[in-house]
Amino acid sequence: MKQRVTILGAGESGTGAALLAKAQGYEVFVSDRGTIADKYKAELKAADVDFEEGTHTLERVLDCNLMVKSPGIPPSAPAVAAAKKAGIEIIDEIEFAFRYTRSNIIAITGTNGKTTTTLLTYHLLREAGYNVALAGNVGISFARQVASGNYDWYVLEVSSFQLDGTTSFNPLVGILLNITPDHLDRYKSMSEYTDSKFQLIRNMGSDRYFIYVADDPIISEEVIRRVIRPQQIRVSLRRETESYYDGKEMVFTVGETFRVKQSDTTLVGPHNLINTMAAVSAARLAGVRADEIRKALLTFRNAPHRLEPVGTIKGVTFINDSKATNVDSVAYALSSYPGPLIWIAGGIDKGNDYGQIMDEVKKKVKVLICLGKDNEKLRRAFRDVVAIIRETQDVRELVRMALKEAESGDVVLLSPACASFDLFRNYEDRGDQFRAAVKELAEEEGVNA
Ligand code: ADP
Repeated sequence: MKQRVTILGAGESGTGAALLAKAQGYEVFVSDRGTIADKYKAELKAADVDFEEGTHTLERVLDCNLMVKSPGIPPSAPAVAAAKKAGIEIIDEIEFAFRYTRSNIIAITGTNGKTTTTLLTYHLLREAGYNVALAGNVGISFARQVASGNYDWYVLEVSSFQLDGTTSFNPLVGILLNITPDHLDRYKSMSEYTDSKFQLIRNMGSDRYFIYVADDPIISEEVIRRVIRPQQIRVSLRRETESYYDGKEMVFTVGETFRVKQSDTTLVGPHNLINTMAAVSAARLAGVRADEIRKALLTFRNAPHRLEPVGTIKGVTFINDSKATNVDSVAYALSSYPGPLIWIAGGIDKGNDYGQIMDEVKKKVKVLICLGKDNEKLRRAFRDVVAIIRETQDVRELVRMALKEAESGDVVLLSPACASFDLFRNYEDRGDQFRAAVKELAEEEGVNA
């Protein structure tokens, strides 16, 4: 008898799972309570996959042996709860895809830095000539990659929601970057969130590798408390571990010992030292040579809107960090540059407490430009520490204002600490408009930004 699978949610992961299930000979039914994007509908039709949208018809949804659920759907959703009650096995798309590949997997999780570390790890392997695919939360779903390609390696970004739906998932290398309070709307407690992150290594034996950041207080406590079977590769900014920063250089001891300066990479800031050390450690475990790693570190381009250099005009460098929608992220951004800075912030404040960045702002920021509809709170917070505070709601005017206030050698940093919805569609839109305005200004000024 044919196995029947129901796929709940038809976004990138659900559609990928449907294509893989079909290729594996399942009878597939896809159900999405919202509307399904046209491109996914077209794919499902082309693959002859049955689907519904706008509702979950329970008798059809429950007519299966296996349910693959999109990570965005909580376990408490009625259709999931009903499946559970009916004794149907419920897994995530990551788990489903894992069951159909024997290739090597490097899986990356953590509260922050996942995308950067995933993209960099992928870049290091690809530049070394590996037959490698990028998958997970960064774009193309793991299931789609498994269905469509025959790769030797997968570099996977995984969220805690995805890890919750795994049972046999067992990567060769697991990276855990940090655990800080997040998603506490879905997890009952911090310890539940922590357990979820540690699902990453649940099935990993002593022939596997666990790379983690030893400076993280929660992780370092947990590794003492738990039985850790995989070999441990610790990353640290503070002490001598397998991969560490000695105050001047990153030192790697996996296999052979070698050193790399951050100035020989394309990334800035202490958080990116962590991300780089994690990615390089994984690449070493995958067998990439030190000389290949050095070369590739010079050509890496991170995803946009994360401390992204978007142009230099008259010696003034413009940085787009539009993804920084909270104070934590701004703290990282400020620590990445020596100053002086023209700092652009503002938008929709999600209850910000600016206390943690006050000292850095005082030391480095000479001008604050507020880019938001209501800038009162920002102005009030910084009026005693920043000499010049300006305001605008127009991005073209903004970059002109910034250039006027800046001198050669200064950095103009868009790192808003706020959401963007008052003036923009989303943080990408804000960053894209900023980049375009800088390019336009560069042309006007007759320079090649
Ligand atoms: P994610 O995919 O986990 O959201 P990103 O790589 O997109 O992570 O980075 C998002 C933001 O998180 C960055 O702009 C930076 O402010 C912060 N960040 C990046 N790496 C780290 C890290 N290792 N530790 C803490 N924060 C980080």
